[in-house]
Amino acid sequence: MVTHTTYEWTPTQLPSSLSVCLSRHHYRGGRDGPTVYVQAAQHGREVSGAECLRRLHERLLDDNTALAGELITVPVANPLTFDRRSYTTPEEIDSVNSNMNRVWPGDVEGTLHERLAATLWDVAADADAIIDLHTASAETLPHIVHTAGDDSSRRLADAFGTTLHLAEPAGDEARSEWHDRRFDGKFRVTAYDAGIPCITPELGDSRRIQEGPIGTGVDGILDVLRTVGALDGEPSGTDATVCRNHLGRVQAAESGLFRPAPDRSLGDRVSKGDHLGTLFDPMTYDRLQEATADHDGVLYALTRRGAVTAGDRLCSVAVPLEGPA
Ligand SMILES: [Zn+2]
Repeated sequence: MVTHTTYEWTPTQLPSSLSVCLSRHHYRGGRDGPTVYVQAAQHGREVSGAECLRRLHERLLDDNTALAGELITVPVANPLTFDRRSYTTPEEIDSVNSNMNRVWPGDVEGTLHERLAATLWDVAADADAIIDLHTASAETLPHIVHTAGDDSSRRLADAFGTTLHLAEPAGDEARSEWHDRRFDGKFRVTAYDAGIPCITPELGDSRRIQEGPIGTGVDGILDVLRTVGALDGEPSGTDATVCRNHLGRVQAAESGLFRPAPDRSLGDRVSKGDHLGTLFDPMTYDRLQEATADHDGVLYALTRRGAVTAGDRLCSVAVPLEGPA
């Protein structure tokens, strides 16, 4: 059995006095169990997470699920970017932190993003497990990011069930790297610091409602609920390759027109030096760059948008730490 309650609140407002509202759903089971917190759409263009939570709502209520403990969901964590279908906000909305996922745990007296984060963290901080739903582009293999060496988060990632995990390093050395890239303000890092297992699924196909990634997301959340004992049964799970995060970007040396290698697909195992695409001058047809894998690994991003600017990512090869070859 599931008892459902919705709460709405207004953590801040726009200059015109228009309220910025948040809404969260509480699903309480008929027996004791863990508290699980799931949020979506910190980056508003990543709409599939919000749709995952809407479908999860139907599944939980229609099936009269035998839930233990409590599930809390926030379908739109950042209305400021959701309304703009954007990743970040313009300077007029938050001149200090355009990216909400760099401000956690937030500040109730800070900028708009900091205020949203602080009021959400107030709810999430009591959870036993957290899922922060994100969506990568269609040019990126769906994957899950978790903290390297954090077995409790790894357990959630294994249950969620994508074929690629990107483990982000922890520890003193990594923290300076995180700090340099402002990654220490990510929601998942704040959860890790608080000792709460947390994963960041990056479902496929930002900006669009696609049945495949959304089904993966709904099934993944249900399997995480099974793994923490909120639902009965065993998660289906998937054999995943675990790689190190934030390595292996091949960048455009010049601006031009990029043709990805036609025989390459996301998820392919590639070796250092393998050809991944060619950059041309679109007017003269001169070859500007042969993009090659900079090390052995899993090809998990390959741009297909054609026109690229110098410095843009052409492809990414994740370096395996472990997992099936
Ligand atoms: Zn995101």
